[in-house]
Amino acid sequence: MTGLSLAHNLGKDNITIFDKSWRPGGRVSTRKNDNLLFDHGAHYLSINHEVEQLRILLNNLNIVDIKEINFSANFLKKEILRKKILIGKNGMNSIPRKIFDNLKIKSHFNTKITKIIKIKEKYTLFADNKEFNDFDLVLVCIPYLQAKELTNEFIDFNTKHEPRYDPIYTVMLSYEEDNNINIDGGLNLHRDISFFMRQNFKFPDLKDECWVLNLSSDFTTKNLDIDNKLLEEKVISIFERSFNVTQRTKFQNTHRWLYAQTKVTYNNLSKKNWIGSKDSKIFLSGDWVMGRSLSDAWNAGLQLSHYLKILNY
Ligand SMILES: Cc1cc2nc3c(=O)[nH]c(=O)nc-3n(C[C@H](O)[C@H](O)[C@H](O)COP(=O)(O)OP(=O)(O)OC[C@H]3O[C@@H](n4cnc5c(N)ncnc54)[C@H](O)[C@@H]3O)c2cc1C
Repeated sequence: MTGLSLAHNLGKDNITIFDKSWRPGGRVSTRKNDNLLFDHGAHYLSINHEVEQLRILLNNLNIVDIKEINFSANFLKKEILRKKILIGKNGMNSIPRKIFDNLKIKSHFNTKITKIIKIKEKYTLFADNKEFNDFDLVLVCIPYLQAKELTNEFIDFNTKHEPRYDPIYTVMLSYEEDNNINIDGGLNLHRDISFFMRQNFKFPDLKDECWVLNLSSDFTTKNLDIDNKLLEEKVISIFERSFNVTQRTKFQNTHRWLYAQTKVTYNNLSKKNWIGSKDSKIFLSGDWVMGRSLSDAWNAGLQLSHYLKILNY
């Protein structure tokens, strides 16, 4: 979302996007498995997010729906309320995908940039055995530690504050029959499960009951190498006890997000909204600059684009 925001806001036709993934969106991710669907990265946009430009764009492109759901603000304390959220019309990943389609710019997916070098004031990017030449400006919109590794020849990170991320395991579950659970999602299902959300209100054609559960960052940090099977057994047992589920899961899967959500922002530490190289030709941005949500990622791209316009790019 940070990279898409920059491309959208710079509005030039000479921009090329590189992504190591096969599709745009990064952590705004929708997983399909046969007929099952899971938003296993970002779940929804807050209806009160304050990034006006993103709100207008999402409305203009007609890619989000407002849903009102039964949400438990604290499952352990049995607090349930009606909550309005914004979701992608065809899963969360449809949001970045449509924004990307609308940009109509050059792109290379399945292309992980592993090295950047400078040759006569221009930059060359390397990926596997390919190279891409003659870039005037390189905007690196990836998690901070990965960005640091890629650009440490051009930026002195000893003088920079380090933002921090929380890691999160997500576990996806599906059941063939309806479990008659009267909550669509919530927080604190258990000490170790910080978040859970039903997927069916997002995908009306979904026949099986599907859920995504996030392990707490504390649990994830302490169990970074836990066996997926063990993890799934634990989560299933908690889920089934919490909701009196008697049937067995039809499908279960786990994904580990090492850099899931920002814990401490760069802006908070430094009061700055991006990191730049000495020659002002390489810039780093990402959700880690401003916050922990996809609207923060959009905002980070927007802020950097303002500065690049001042520099006349
Ligand atoms: C489990 C989970 C739940 C979340 N829940 C919510 C939520 O409910 N609401 C919300 O608003 N936010 C949520 N978030 C946070 C939100 O997803 C992120 O803040 C936002 O998507 C970050 O966007 P970004 O563009 O900064 O980074 P990313 O989404 O990480 O994008 C970085 C991109 O760079 C690519 N990349 C990385 N390295 C390279 C390389 N070397 N070469 C080429 N490409 C590379 C990646 O493939 C990726 O596409 C959640 C995140 C997670 C993981």
